Amino acid sequence: MEPQRSPLLEVKRNVELKRPLVKASSRLPLSGSRLKRRPDQMEDALEPEKKRTRGLGAPTKIATSYPRAPPLTTVPQTTAQKVSKKTGPRCSTAIATVVKNQKPVPAVAVQKPSTSAVPPVVGGKKPSKRPAWDLKGQLHDLNAELKCCRERIQTLDQENQQLRDQLRDAQQEAKTLGLERGTLEGELARVQAQAEQGQQELKNLRACVLNLEARLGTQESLVQELQNKQLELQEERRQLTSRLEDQEVSILITNPHGTLCLFSHGHSFLRRLQVSEAALSNSRAEVASLQQEAATQAALLAERGERIYALEMERRRLHNQLQELKGNIRVFCRVRPVLPGEPTPPSGFLLFPSGPGGPSDPPTRLTLSQTDQRRGTLSGAPAPTNRHDFSFDRVFPPGSGQDEVFEEISMLVQSALDGYPVCIFAYGQTGSGKTFTMEGGPGGDPQLEGLIPRALRHLFSVAQDLSGQGWTYSFVASYVEIYNETVRDLLATGTRKGQGGECEIRRAGPGSEELTVTNARYVPVSCEKEVEALLRLAHQNRAVARTAQNERSSRSHSVFQLQISGEHSSRGLQCGAPLSLVDLAGSERLDPGLVLGPGERERLRETQAINSSLSALGLVIMALSNKESHVPYRNSKLTYLLQNSLGGNAKMLMFVNISPLKENVSETLNSLRFASKVNQCVIGTAQACRK
Ligand code: ADP
Ligand code: MG
Repeated sequence: MEPQRSPLLEVKRNVELKRPLVKASSRLPLSGSRLKRRPDQMEDALEPEKKRTRGLGAPTKIATSYPRAPPLTTVPQTTAQKVSKKTGPRCSTAIATVVKNQKPVPAVAVQKPSTSAVPPVVGGKKPSKRPAWDLKGQLHDLNAELKCCRERIQTLDQENQQLRDQLRDAQQEAKTLGLERGTLEGELARVQAQAEQGQQELKNLRACVLNLEARLGTQESLVQELQNKQLELQEERRQLTSRLEDQEVSILITNPHGTLCLFSHGHSFLRRLQVSEAALSNSRAEVASLQQEAATQAALLAERGERIYALEMERRRLHNQLQELKGNIRVFCRVRPVLPGEPTPPSGFLLFPSGPGGPSDPPTRLTLSQTDQRRGTLSGAPAPTNRHDFSFDRVFPPGSGQDEVFEEISMLVQSALDGYPVCIFAYGQTGSGKTFTMEGGPGGDPQLEGLIPRALRHLFSVAQDLSGQGWTYSFVASYVEIYNETVRDLLATGTRKGQGGECEIRRAGPGSEELTVTNARYVPVSCEKEVEALLRLAHQNRAVARTAQNERSSRSHSVFQLQISGEHSSRGLQCGAPLSLVDLAGSERLDPGLVLGPGERERLRETQAINSSLSALGLVIMALSNKESHVPYRNSKLTYLLQNSLGGNAKMLMFVNISPLKENVSETLNSLRFASKVNQCVIGTAQACRK
């Protein structure tokens, strides 16, 4: 960008540009000061000549009548000087004479002094006078002087004319120069005015700059002040924002006209309100979308619920069908191991032949070899060996673990949840492992846990799974023993602890098929911890009874019952069935040759009661198997109490526990024979107890 020029510099530049023009316009070889002289001032220029003339005594009138040419004329100086020197005082006198006579005198006489008799005046010396008498000579001299004056006048006229011409030219030139000067002066004035204007503008600009600098300083201080203010406001805003976030402020109230009254705490509220409204709108749209999706999902869920329900029903049907194929009465034979201190049975006493599928198949057969010592003794030959082959639904050799046993009955527990009555017995002579199988081994070892704790844990777990399908289950436990046809509560606490004989089996109500034991505790349970507590309590009650009556626990039936109630509220379905786990009294018989004393009589009575109840159980099973119209449940307290678990729709499992010892072979054979009879029974098709 071209820098802005100062008006003053512009003016100066114009002046410099015009100065050569002024010089060029002047054609005179004279100084500027002389050019400024006017024609009327030229008299002064002639002043030295005039003074010389006066000094020579010339008359003053000449100056007024004949203005002399200024020194600036173009007349050659030599001529002028020549004239001046030639004329001298004589010439001046001649002029004075002419003026006096009013006649023009030619000035040419000067150039012909030789014609005159009188020698010309040279060097200021006065010529010698003619004698008075020489009139002719005087006349001649006068004529010569007159002629000289005339010539001189003529010369002067010419000179005057030339001077006049020069004067006219000079005046003309002066006039032109005057005009030019006027123009230049005008221009100068204009330039000066412009310069002054520029100066004024510069002055104004400086003032303006000063003013702007002052304003700039003020603005800068204002900006600084505003920045400080902004910082303060930002800090205040931050504090307000944090306070607003901490407070729950109700900002909107709808007035009766339907407009919204806003209790604002500043613009931040409005902004937050707008943001909240936008978020609310988004949320509403999202909620609508989610509701639609939820409806879709609900429909899908209902559809899947239907399908799951159908599948569950199908599973129950198939499960039951499978159980029926396996048999509604199943018999498992379990042989306990030889305990430390017990004699080792002869090899081959008990054998467990493989099933049809080979050794990989679970054993179902058992062979007991018995030597007939009497026949061998009589004949002298080696005693013959009698083989007794038994086949059951499953045979557990001595090394079988508790978990292996439970795995086989877990399906029955599932049936109990499905609404089918289930009853599991442990049958066998005393010391064959019935209590071990049902309740577990000593010491609380989890590996030795019996069927009762395992079955209940499994029930709780499956019930939890079925709750996802809408089923709600509840469990109520009871634990009683039947000794000599008397029922005693094993869960009794307080003053009733250890006492028996006060419980009676009654129907729950008129017309009801549900049985209940009066004065017995029915304890709702929902977890295995509660069941463990009940089993410990039952064990304590048995221990108290044992001190009072010798080995009473082996002489009584222990019946653990769990009433299972299931409900599917959305479908209005209910199911309920008892799960009975029975540790039967020892099945051994009294030795016929035993001498009966007071204690033995009591023992005989116990044994008869036990045998009677076990026989009643066998008869009930037989009657059920034969589908007889009358089932003798009432023949014993045991069958009476278990009648709901033994009916046509029940599933029954009998463990026949046997001792591995040779000395127990007779009782073992009795147990196996009894179990075989039961195993041959088939109870009619079970049906779930649905309401
Ligand atoms: P029961 O109840 O038939 O009279 P128990 O269950 O009391 O017989 O068993 C008698 C003994 O044999 C107990 O000491 C028990 O621990 C032990 N016993 C029984 N069965 C087994 C087994 N399968 N494994 C280990 N020990 C067993
Ligand atoms: Mg026992």
